[in-house]
Amino acid sequence: MIVMKFGGTSVGSPERIKSVVNLINDNNPKIVVLSAMSGTTNALVKISGLFYAGNKDVIAEIDQLEDKYEKVVDELYSTEEYKLKGKELIKNRFDLLRNFEKVDCNAVAECTILAQGELLSTALTQLYCEESGINSALLPALNFMRNDRNGEPDNYYIKEQINRELNSYPGVKLFITQGFICRDANGEINNLKRGGSDYSASLIGKAVNAKEVQIWTDIDGFHNNDPRFVENTKAIRELSFDEAAELAYFGAKILHPASVWPAQEANIPLLLKNTMEPQAPGTVISSTSKNEGIKAIAAKDDITAIKIKSGRMLMAYGFLRKVFEVFESYQTPIDMITTSEIAVSLTIDNTKHLDKIAQELRLYGNVEIDRNMTIICIVGNNIMHSKDSISKVFMALDKVPVRMVSYGGSRHNISILTDSEHKAEALNLLSKYLF
Ligand code: ASP
Repeated sequence: MIVMKFGGTSVGSPERIKSVVNLINDNNPKIVVLSAMSGTTNALVKISGLFYAGNKDVIAEIDQLEDKYEKVVDELYSTEEYKLKGKELIKNRFDLLRNFEKVDCNAVAECTILAQGELLSTALTQLYCEESGINSALLPALNFMRNDRNGEPDNYYIKEQINRELNSYPGVKLFITQGFICRDANGEINNLKRGGSDYSASLIGKAVNAKEVQIWTDIDGFHNNDPRFVENTKAIRELSFDEAAELAYFGAKILHPASVWPAQEANIPLLLKNTMEPQAPGTVISSTSKNEGIKAIAAKDDITAIKIKSGRMLMAYGFLRKVFEVFESYQTPIDMITTSEIAVSLTIDNTKHLDKIAQELRLYGNVEIDRNMTIICIVGNNIMHSKDSISKVFMALDKVPVRMVSYGGSRHNISILTDSEHKAEALNLLSKYLF
């Protein structure tokens, strides 16, 4: 069994859905995980916001989205019979959406609204398989994908339920299911957060002990730098799980960072492939990492740096614990950290509770905050032991003001914090010196 996940652009039009079906129709057992058609989740976020606000424009917004789907149905199916079935299918989904006008919009309602995108894309694709005479089954993710009380995937439940579902379709080799959506511990509809379909695919891969999890997008794998800022970037053929996790977390948009861990735990290779160029090798992410040295650079924006300077830190113990506890109590993860004997600097990307955090930190010392920063993450294998790595990075960034450096935390990563206005320059200089 393999798992193949297709993102929003890969199923973004009737043409693209047909190409996906072409790719998955090879008689080998597989579970296909689909995102919503591109633009749909954003439209649904807007719709749920309008419901919350009690804004009457919501119905026009829903009608507009429904019109798009009517066109999809017209182009996707060739027979009248299937056009009718497709229309019926979308009408049910959109009637359900319109009905939210009569209920109070709350968090569950919001998740139910957002879930409609994946429910639509999978049902339409499976119906197209049916029209094309391809034996397949729709596997409802809401029957097996569930979070526990801590909001983490309930791996035991997922494994039990998905295998039970699969066994109820003897003779079927092609299963189509929704990414992103799940239930919470109370059984209410929930989701794995934006971009979470990759995570679904990896969790499913682990639950069915897949041979491989393939993530199909519209780019040929991880690139060695950000193609939006640097020309002539190259696709990387092989990465280790650790390297991929660092790159995904620190800005490479191609893969959801959480999706690396389930595959790594179960030692299932992740393959990043391009739907536009299916023959291209893509990037293989596995437990082995060949080639030493720096492989790629990624950047993460909207970072806030916080410096706490305190005489009390001098030769004291327990100071860092107190600082970390402040962040923990506001459920705010810390990304980078550097310390000196009298100060500690750290970065966060979630500033929801920044004012309260700063207020509490002032109990321990003087607090300085720098916003609009970017973390530039340089990733590779055994960077610490490969000759020149760190000196080349500093040579490249000679003219760029660097606010923080993190080196030695792992063998795979050097992180540099700079003002976001220097990001493009830094990425280009690093490319020039390192590759
Ligand atoms: N459709 C969801 C989103 O747009 C999940 C995904 O595409 O991975 O965030």
